Amino acid sequence: MLFEPCLIVARFFIFGGIMSMLPQNMQSRSDLLPVSPGEISRLQDDAAPFRRREAFSLLASLSPKRRLSLPEAARLLATGDPMVWETAAGMARAVREEVFGRRIVLFAPLYLSNECGNNCLYCGFRKDNREAGRITLSPEHAVREARFLERKGFHRLLLVSGEHPGKTDAGYIADVLRAIYRGTGMRILHVNAAPMPEEELRLLREAGAGVYQVFQETYHPETYRAMHPSGPKADFAWRLTCMDRAMRAGFRDVGIGALLGLYDYRFEVLSVIRHAESLREAYGTFPHTISVPRFKRAFGSPLREAPRPVSDDEFEKIVIVYRLSVPTAGIVVTTREPAALRDRVLDIGASQISAGSKTDPGGYEEGVRRVDSEQFELDDTRPVEEIIRMILGRGYLPSLCTSCYRRNRTGDAFTEMAADGQIRGFCLPNALLTLAEYAVSAGDPRLRDECLAAVREGKEEMEGSILAEAFERMLSRVLAGEKDLYF
Ligand code: SAM
Ligand code: SF4
Repeated sequence: MLFEPCLIVARFFIFGGIMSMLPQNMQSRSDLLPVSPGEISRLQDDAAPFRRREAFSLLASLSPKRRLSLPEAARLLATGDPMVWETAAGMARAVREEVFGRRIVLFAPLYLSNECGNNCLYCGFRKDNREAGRITLSPEHAVREARFLERKGFHRLLLVSGEHPGKTDAGYIADVLRAIYRGTGMRILHVNAAPMPEEELRLLREAGAGVYQVFQETYHPETYRAMHPSGPKADFAWRLTCMDRAMRAGFRDVGIGALLGLYDYRFEVLSVIRHAESLREAYGTFPHTISVPRFKRAFGSPLREAPRPVSDDEFEKIVIVYRLSVPTAGIVVTTREPAALRDRVLDIGASQISAGSKTDPGGYEEGVRRVDSEQFELDDTRPVEEIIRMILGRGYLPSLCTSCYRRNRTGDAFTEMAADGQIRGFCLPNALLTLAEYAVSAGDPRLRDECLAAVREGKEEMEGSILAEAFERMLSRVLAGEKDLYF
């Protein structure tokens, strides 16, 4: 009985400050905001750089269970000492390996529609871009795109869409989800689309969406207002509370992130970490993924340069801080980034990468680049086969695995198991089984041999594991042509 009035009082005192910073149309929401920009600014102002010794002893104490706290992350971000960052990079790599072992998840985005009612200054899909070639795939067309990606070896896709009332609503995305599950062998489909009301998110969940991803773009209200001048996306609080609605709608896993380059990256990184913590406090689970999209120039968008550019060096620091602060999250680096940087971040904590991507709807089947339909320019255009070879060459295992979603190792169960180092025990055999499955049908005999050599090496690593015998049996079946075997 006392709970509700207490919440109202707390909301008044804790969030009154930010709410008064927001324009009138943003003050209408009654939900508690999960991140307080005022609190983040204060944290930044108070953060003293670490002295070298202090940093070394803190970094040495970190593990999947002992994460970097928010004030510690603020202090690390304020530290310039290259030796501290070198040590932090090594620690980020160690923590990633304790959680996930050597596996690097591969996925591809499938763009469904570039029609949009919003006007985000940075995006080629924005409503006022009159030169954009607009396309919304029918569910049948989306199935053809998914089949193309399936032939490339992908079993998990991220469906991406603009926000257009009537054309890309929840009913449409749910139809596409069902059509792809029915018409292809895709094993899990995630979604990156607009923030929606709870009942619409439930529709997507029921149609089989795995992770719901929404990036806040910027957690800084004034920059947010400037970047999103019109359309439903202008509502900062509606976007910031989307993950709470997704959780209430039955999603067990969500993905968050900030679009780097719009505002001070330190502020954005601390806000993302705070957002992650608030999800953990409210729902028992950290976000499943944290993405690090960085501004890229987009055809027909008025923002030609990032207002607050993030250098490659800073990008690497961001990956390190996310890994140490939210050890169980998949840190996602997309083909927006240059090849050399994508290769490097595998050594400092990134755990998921896209490959062979297109950002124009229908672009996979079509095969020719349609600049006027793309969301933004891509940098790493290497084909999937080359990315697989690169991952193997750096001593990691490319993973096409989807088993955690299908064995209910999701949400709070995943977070607990990952922090306890138990997920890694599944990652190795599952990554090896999917790699063996990929090798069996690989067109290029040299690549097949390289994959099989990595499988054999991994098999030796499995010796002594309680899953070793079952793994050997399953591996023989996969090598004989059976598909989709997993723990
Ligand atoms: N339309 C939905 C939305 O905005 O949330 C979802 C899909 S949007 C196509 C996916 C993400 O692409 C956005 O959240 C934004 O972070 C990112 N993005 C948009 N324009 C970009 C650009 N020029 N460079 C890099 N990333 C961009
Ligand atoms: Fe539309 Fe999303 Fe692009 Fe904004 S970022 S214009 S909402 S597709």
